[in-house]
Order: sequence, then structure tokens, then C-alpha cells
Amino acid sequence: MSLRGREAPEAIPSFEIASATFGGLAMTNKSMAKIKIDKDKCKGCMLCASVCARGLIVRSKKLNKRGIHCVEFIDKRHACTGCTMCAVICPDMCIEVYK
Ligand code: SF4
Ligand code: SF4
Repeated sequence: MSLRGREAPEAIPSFEIASATFGGLAMTNKSMAKIKIDKDKCKGCMLCASVCARGLIVRSKKLNKRGIHCVEFIDKRHACTGCTMCAVICPDMCIEVYK
């Protein structure tokens, strides 16, 4: 068994801790931050959605040019903090954050 295989399960709780930390915050803010997702580059891995404490990134019902259900940003309440977690974790650098 490789070390990588042993380390992977330990990474998941850290995301849960991050969600708990931010989960109690108000669902709106004044930053008016937003993200832009390059949907045709997206491979639908959902890593970005897993780290967004506000739950603003969801799987799209539409297919991108690669035939993948990519993700989309839905923020009707302007709750995005611009924390950049989604952009940092995306392995394909599909996300840009604007503050
Ligand atoms: S910048 Fe932060 S709050 Fe905004 S969508 Fe990304 S992870 Fe969520
Ligand atoms: S982390 Fe990147 S590749 Fe994965 S679903 Fe999010 S935008 Fe798409």
C-alpha cells in the first residue's frame, strides 16, 4: 500500500473542520465577491464544492464541451466571501475569484 493511499482519508476531515468554522457565519456579506468558472475546462471533480463553506458551488445539469456535468456558481444572496478556497483547490485552475 502506498503512503498516498494512507494519507488521503485524513485530508477529508480538514474540509469538514473548515465548513464548521464558517458554517455559523451570516449568509450574506458586503464584499460582493464572486467567482468565474471556466466550465469547459472543468472535469466535474467537485473539489471546489467540497471546500466552499457557503455551499455556493453546485453540479450543473448542463454538459460542457467535454460532455461533463461541470459545476456552476449560484450566489443569489451575495454570500461569497472571496476566500479563494475553491480556486486554490481546483487542480485544473478553472476558477478565478473577484473581490
Ligand atoms: S471564494 Fe470562497 S465563498 Fe466564494 S465560492 Fe469560492 S469557496 Fe465559496
Ligand atoms: S475543482 Fe475545478 S475541475 Fe473540479 S469541479 Fe471544481 S472547477 Fe471543476
